[in-house]
Amino acid sequence: MSVELTMKANYHTHTPRCNHATGSEREYIEQGLKRKLEILGFADHSPQVFDDYVSGFRMRPEQLEDYVMTLRQLREEYAGRIQILIGLEAEYYPKYFPRLLDLIRPFQLDYLILGQHFLGNECEGEPPCSKATEDESRLERYVKQTIEALESGAFSCFAHPDVLNFTGENRIYRKWYEKLCVRAKELDIPLELNMLGYVETRHYPNPAFFRIANEVGNDVILGCDAHAPGRVAVPSEIEGSLRFLKDCGIEHVLETLKLKMPAP
Ligand SMILES: [Zn+2]
Ligand SMILES: [Zn+2]
Repeated sequence: MSVELTMKANYHTHTPRCNHATGSEREYIEQGLKRKLEILGFADHSPQVFDDYVSGFRMRPEQLEDYVMTLRQLREEYAGRIQILIGLEAEYYPKYFPRLLDLIRPFQLDYLILGQHFLGNECEGEPPCSKATEDESRLERYVKQTIEALESGAFSCFAHPDVLNFTGENRIYRKWYEKLCVRAKELDIPLELNMLGYVETRHYPNPAFFRIANEVGNDVILGCDAHAPGRVAVPSEIEGSLRFLKDCGIEHVLETLKLKMPAP
């Protein structure tokens, strides 16, 4: 008899409010139940209160209430069968971070995960972090900005920490990403193996990054980054992701996160 690989918890689940995910919240939850998850955390792309820039890949600030209320209702409905958590995947944009914290404070979310898709503040026209670059200064800025984010105390986990697509010298890759891993470890913030990136063979997860994380001794957790209900805790994807980590020397993954939110 073969044993199907399961996860206990997934904290990285989207909803269509971000404009690039499909399926209702209920469909994600039903899939989680089918795949025997005990905890399903929603972390859709957070709204940002920009000045006059509109971001295309996140919910708008006025959608946050519906997001939270919908999930609270489902949390009640499914209580005792699966634990629903309400979080957000947020960037750390220094200029707008205080506004983000002000916006979310009244909703008493369960957690935030850091997903840094842009350097600076997103609205300045810079290319996304996923654009390949040999420019050390972009990697340096990414590492410094995300370390500042982790130091804010607002984040429970770091999603696709290796998203800055540095294609230059290995020595430079290691120099900066090692600093990031060391600081994440000091702050006790787990790094996510992003299963979406793994399945779609994106530039992340990068074995070079996870070999560094193994040497540093970081905690690592799997995150589905589900943008469709069918991508919640797929056994073959779990198996492949664990094999990937094992090849990097990482035998142990966290099953659950310690959740924290910034002080009110
Ligand atoms: Zn997304
Ligand atoms: Zn995501």
